Amino acid sequence: MDSKLLEILVCPVCKGPLVFDKSAQELICKADRLAFPVRDGIPMMLESEARELPADEEVRGG
Ligand SMILES: [Zn+2]
Repeated sequence: MDSKLLEILVCPVCKGPLVFDKSAQELICKADRLAFPVRDGIPMMLESEARELPADEEVRGG
């Protein structure tokens, strides 16, 4: 995904920064522990599309 696009994307819930998990193709908000899916390179920035991360799931950076 375009890194410049990633720079302007923020969490729709808390407006905080997101981390792109390349292997999972998800944008992760560490504050809310939500993972937003990226489908065909298009981030699904909707809370209803997000997956809740379990408390014990490691959040990968970078
Ligand atoms: Zn958030």
